Amino acid sequence: MKLLVLATVAVTALAALSGCADKAAETARADCAAPAGDVNVYSSRHYDTDLALYEDFTCETGIKVNRIEADADALIERIQSEGEFSPADLLLTVDAGRLWRAEEAGIFAPVDSDVLKQRLPANLRHPEGLWFGLSTRARIIIYDKSKGAPEGLANYADLADPARKGEICMRSSSNIYNISLLSSIIAHKGAAEAENWAKGVVANFKQAPQGNDTAMIEVVAAGQCRISVVNTYYLARYAGGDAKDKAIFDKVGVIFPDQDGVGTHVNVSGAGLIKTAPNRENAVKFLEYLTSESAQRYFADGNNEYPAAIGLKANSAVEQLGSFKADKLGVAEIGRGQAQAVTIFDRAGWN
Ligand code: FE
Repeated sequence: MKLLVLATVAVTALAALSGCADKAAETARADCAAPAGDVNVYSSRHYDTDLALYEDFTCETGIKVNRIEADADALIERIQSEGEFSPADLLLTVDAGRLWRAEEAGIFAPVDSDVLKQRLPANLRHPEGLWFGLSTRARIIIYDKSKGAPEGLANYADLADPARKGEICMRSSSNIYNISLLSSIIAHKGAAEAENWAKGVVANFKQAPQGNDTAMIEVVAAGQCRISVVNTYYLARYAGGDAKDKAIFDKVGVIFPDQDGVGTHVNVSGAGLIKTAPNRENAVKFLEYLTSESAQRYFADGNNEYPAAIGLKANSAVEQLGSFKADKLGVAEIGRGQAQAVTIFDRAGWN
């Protein structure tokens, strides 16, 4: 049984973090709205900047944000077992695959909000409003700069080229980021081609799949593997880190795949309204707030992601990776291909 922590945002302790509080530092947040109820957020995401985000919302609206944190699957199970008495208003998690699991579990209710439709591109939200992407991350190819840019490597498809034999290190296929990437390949090219691709990549492995995205960056920087695939925010952490991190970042080359084709695979952090939400109206207000410019800044910066709302830019650490064309495939589509992707990885021998 996982330990679940109920954390109520402490108004006084966090006052200094909040822009709203800055103005009212002397007057103990006298400019904040009067208490106006609660919103209960079940979240598998935790970053320090998220606290300031919640605090600003409370100041603006008077709605207190109560958080329960655990991993996504535990939260989905918990909401299911709490049933109609669940206090959960919103589930906040990362990856379209997990949002899809929640959708399949039948815990979401649709939200019809003009604000959300205007601020978020259609491909980053569920077509029926069951969930909304709030930030994005791209899954990019990285390479060991000391060996030079691998010739002819521009697309995910090129990872399966026999020219790359013995050069590629990847994390396990049980990882949801790889499942979502393969799911996007299935959506674009069909299952047969996706399977050939997976087999081709496996044939090019330098070692059996192991380690997380951070480990992949480190083995590439250390020259142990020439090529890998990671999410942008992991590399941005090195770009925006201390001197030691920056030295690692400098050793790693970045390729945004498929720039002449459909664009680089992107995934989301996102949230959906729980169908039994006791504070439905407050939950929708909170969702809308999360897409506002200031909230998007906190939310994206909390994990070095790209803001999902239209017209907003990523922070300077993320921008160091370069600009790119993102795949416009509906993120909901990526969810639907998960089971098939797992089967294909199995058949391809990608452990
Ligand atoms: Fe991650």
